[in-house]
Amino acid sequence: MEVLYKGTRSDSQSVTASKAILQGLCEDGGLFVPNAIPKLDKSLSELSAMSYQQVAYEVMKLFLTDFTEDELKDCIKKAYDDKFDTKAIAPIREAGGAYYLELFHGATIAFKDMALSILPHLMTTSAKKNHVENQIMILTATSGDTGKAALAGFADVPGTGIIVFYPKGGVSAVQEKQMVTQVGDNTHVVGIHGNFDDAQTGVKALFGDKELAGRMAEKGVQFSSANSINIGRLVPQIVYYVYSYATLLKDGVITEGEKINVCVPTGNFGNILAAYYAKLMGLPVNKLICASNENKVLYDFFDSGKYDRNREFILTSSPSMDILISSNLERLIYRICDEDAAKCAGFMKSLSESGVYEITDEMKNMLSDFWGCSADEKACFDKIRSLYEKEGYIIDTHTAVAGAVYDKYVSATGDNTKTVIASTASPYKFSRSVMTAIDEKYADQEDFALIDELSRLSGVAIPSAIEQIRTAPVRHDTVCDKTEMKSVVESILAL
Ligand SMILES: *Cc1c(COP(=O)(O)O)cnc(C)c1O
Repeated sequence: MEVLYKGTRSDSQSVTASKAILQGLCEDGGLFVPNAIPKLDKSLSELSAMSYQQVAYEVMKLFLTDFTEDELKDCIKKAYDDKFDTKAIAPIREAGGAYYLELFHGATIAFKDMALSILPHLMTTSAKKNHVENQIMILTATSGDTGKAALAGFADVPGTGIIVFYPKGGVSAVQEKQMVTQVGDNTHVVGIHGNFDDAQTGVKALFGDKELAGRMAEKGVQFSSANSINIGRLVPQIVYYVYSYATLLKDGVITEGEKINVCVPTGNFGNILAAYYAKLMGLPVNKLICASNENKVLYDFFDSGKYDRNREFILTSSPSMDILISSNLERLIYRICDEDAAKCAGFMKSLSESGVYEITDEMKNMLSDFWGCSADEKACFDKIRSLYEKEGYIIDTHTAVAGAVYDKYVSATGDNTKTVIASTASPYKFSRSVMTAIDEKYADQEDFALIDELSRLSGVAIPSAIEQIRTAPVRHDTVCDKTEMKSVVESILAL
C-alpha cells in the first residue's frame, strides 16, 4: 500500500515520502503526517529472529513506500555499521526493575544518532529520486544533541551543507565542545544569545521566508531540516521500539503478544511520538509514559488538556529537554482531532499568537494511551545515585528523569507491566551533573578528570566520541543575537 504524506494544517498537499523528507516542513508551517499508519506485516516472533538492520527494513519499508528495496537497504547498511560500538546497535540493560533501551551507542553518544546516521542517506537518495540538482542546506536548531549528531551525519556528504544554531550557555560543556570542534568543509555552527525555543522559532521563520528561498534558488541552494519535524527522522525512530520488543521476546523476558510500557524522557515529543506510531502499527504497547523535567508543559497538558507555554523557561541538568514548544505534539493533536487540518491549524495559530490552546473533552478522551508526569532536579539526581548504589549502573540526566517518572508511575498506578525506558544519552555526555549526583565532592573537579572518574566507577570504557574532543581544536566560534540569524545565514551562503 502506498503511503503519502499530507500536512497537519491544510489538506492542500499530498506528497511521496521522498518529497516530504526533502521538504522537511509544509509550506504553511504544518508537519507532514502519513495518510495512514501501516500495520506491521511480519509477526513478532519473526521480528525477534532479525538483526537491527533487518527490523529497520521491515518497519521503514512500510512508511517510505516510494523507496525501492535496494535504495532503502543501502541507506540502512550505510547508517547502522561500525559507527555504532555494539553489533546490537540498541542493546537493553535491565536495572532497578526496568529495561533500559540504550540508544546512545552511535557516533555522538545520544539517541539522535539513531535517526541522524540514516537521514543524510535518505536525503541524498530522495534528491536523486526527485532529480533535485540544488545543494541541500540543512538548517537546524538544537538543544544540544541533534546539532552534533546532524553535523556528524552530514559532514562532507557531497551535495549537502549544514548550519546548526544552539543556545549559547544552554548546553553542557561536552555538548558544546563536540559541536564547535566539528570538522568538515560544509559544516557551520553558530551560538545564539537566547534559548532553544528562540533558535527553533528563528529556524522555522527562515524556512518560511519566501524571499530568501528565491535568492537561494538563484544560487542553486535549498533548505531542508534535520530536526525531528522531518519524517525522515521520525520513521527511523519507530524501528528501535519494535526492535526492543523483539529483543525482550527473544530473551524470554516477555511472551509473544504480552504488552509492555514505554517510558520516554521528552522534549520536542519526537521520540515518544515514534513509540506511539509503533503502537498504532500493532506493537503490543500498554502505556506511553511521557517524562518531563521541570519544564513540565507536557505534563500539564496531559493533566489538564491545556497547553500553555507562557511560563518561565528553566535551565536544568537535562538540557535536551529544556523546551516549551514541543513541535511534534502537533502530529498527536492532528490525530486526536480526527485529522481535521483546519481545527489543528486553529490550535497552532492560537499557540503562536497567545502561547496557549485548550483541547476539547472529546480530544482529551483520546489521550488515554499516555500518562505524563515530571521529575525535578532532586528526583533526577536521586535516581542516578540510587541506581548506581544499588546496581552499579550509571545513567545520564535525561534517562534519570524518565527513571524517576517511571517510579512515580508505579507508585501511582500499581501497574507492574514490564517497561522499556528510552535511555537517550551516554552519561559521559553529562558527566559533571552525573558525577555530582553520585557525590557532591566531585563538584569542583575539571571536566576530563570527571570523565576519567566516571569510567572508573562505571567500568565502562570512555567512548571515542569523548576521547576525540579532549584535544580537538575549536573550529567554530560565531555567536549572534537571536534577531541576527537571517544575516548569519546570508553571509554563510554568500547571498
Ligand atoms: C533530544 C533528546 C531528548 C528529547 O527527545 P524528543 O524527541 O525531543 O522528545 C531527550 N534526551 C536526550 C538526551 C536528547 O538528546
